[in-house]
Amino acid sequence: MNAGQMNADLTEAERIRILAKTARFAPPPARLADGRRELVGLSRAEIIAELAAIGEKPFRAKQLWHWIYHQGTTDFCRMSSIARPLQEKLAEHFVIGRPEAAEVLTSTDATRKFLFRFRDGQEAETVYIPDRQEDRGAVCISSQVGCTLSCRFCHTGTQTLVRNLGAAEIVGQFMAARDSYGEWPSPRGETPRLLSTIVLMGMGEPLYNYENVAKAMTIVMDGEGIGLSRRRITLSTSGVVPMMDRAGTELGVNLAVSLHAVRDDLRDEIVPLNRKYPIADLIAACRRYPAASNARRITFEYVMLKGINDTEADARELVRLIAGIPAKVNLIPFNPWPGSPYETSTQGAIDRFAAIVMDAGFSSPVRTPRGRDILAACGQLRTESRRERAVA
Ligand code: SAH
Ligand code: SF4
Repeated sequence: MNAGQMNADLTEAERIRILAKTARFAPPPARLADGRRELVGLSRAEIIAELAAIGEKPFRAKQLWHWIYHQGTTDFCRMSSIARPLQEKLAEHFVIGRPEAAEVLTSTDATRKFLFRFRDGQEAETVYIPDRQEDRGAVCISSQVGCTLSCRFCHTGTQTLVRNLGAAEIVGQFMAARDSYGEWPSPRGETPRLLSTIVLMGMGEPLYNYENVAKAMTIVMDGEGIGLSRRRITLSTSGVVPMMDRAGTELGVNLAVSLHAVRDDLRDEIVPLNRKYPIADLIAACRRYPAASNARRITFEYVMLKGINDTEADARELVRLIAGIPAKVNLIPFNPWPGSPYETSTQGAIDRFAAIVMDAGFSSPVRTPRGRDILAACGQLRTESRRERAVA
C-alpha cells in the first residue's frame, strides 16, 4: 500500500472490521425492564415503525419529534397537541429518558462537568464550556465509556473500553446538559441558545463508534428538532483513517484531528493508533475530507508536551506536512492528571511554536485550559467510580 493512498478495497475491508468490532461493545437494548421503549435516539423511521406497532399513524412521529427534540419534553402528559387518551397510551409503551446526572461539578471558570449514569449503571462525562465573550458555549460529548486506544498523555486512555454509547446516550448527554441550564423554549416561545455547539471531544474515539455517533448527530442536526447546523459540530479523531471519508461524506461535520507529533516514531509512541494509520495516510485522508475542499478548515490538535514534541523543528515539520490544507492548528497545553507522565511545555516554547505556524499562514490559537480544577479539561476525563467499575 502506498503511503497516503489506501486501496479502496482495503479501506472497505478495514471499515467492515472496525464496524464488527464496534458491535462487540454495543450498548444495552433501549427497552426498559417493564417493556417500554426509549424513544430518544430512534430515527424518524424507527419512531414511525414503533407507532405502527401500536396502531398509530405516521404523522404522530412528527408531533413526537417536535415535543422531544424541539420542546425538550420528557412527559407525554405535557404534549398539548396530543389528546389525553393517546398521551396515556404513549406513556404505556414508551419513555423519553435522560441519562442520570450522578454528579455535577462547576469550575471556578464556570465550566460545568456532568458525570452521567446510564441505565446499566455505566458512566461517562460531559463538559459544558461557556464562551467567555459570547453568551453561548460548547458541549463536549463522550462517545464511549473508556477508550480502546491508549494515547500516552490522555487520562481516558488509561481506562480500557467498557462499551460504546448508544445514540440515545449520546444525544441524551446534550439534552440533559440543556435541561441543566433550562434551555428549552419557554411557554412564551423564547429560546435561550447557550448550548449551541457540540464537540465530540469527550471520552472515547468517535470513529470507533461510528454508527451510534452518526445516528446521534443526524438527530441533533434535524431542523425540526434541536436543529444544530453541521458547522456547529466538530468531531475529533485520533486518526481512524478508513472512517474519516465516511464521516465526511455522510455527516459533513467539522473535523478535528489529533496529530500531536510530526514524525512516525514519536507518534507511534504517544498516539499508538499511528502504527496502524501512519501520518502520511492520515494527512492524505485530511486532504480528501469533503468539508476541507469546501473551505471549511480542518483543526489539527497538537498537545504541547515539554521536551517531547515542542521544538521549533517540530513546528516547521508540521507546517510542511499540512501545507495546502485549509487548516488551523489548535495548540493544547498538556493538562496533567494524577500520575500523568508528561509536563506542559513552557510558555516560551508554546509561543515560538505558535509563531512558526502563524508565519506559515495558519491560525494557531492556544487552547486556554478550561475546568482544570474539576478535571474537566481536554484529556482529563475519567473518574474513580468508573475505574472501579471497569476493573470489576
Ligand atoms: N478520541 C478523540 C477525541 C477525544 S480527546 C481524539 O483523540 O481526538 C479530545 C482532545 O484532547 C484530543 O485532541 C486529545 O488528544 C486531547 N488530549 C488528550 N489528553 C490530553 C491532555 N492530557 N492534555 C491536553 N489534551 C489532551
Ligand atoms: Fe482515546 Fe482520544 Fe484519549 Fe486517545 S486521546 S486515548 S483516542 S480519548
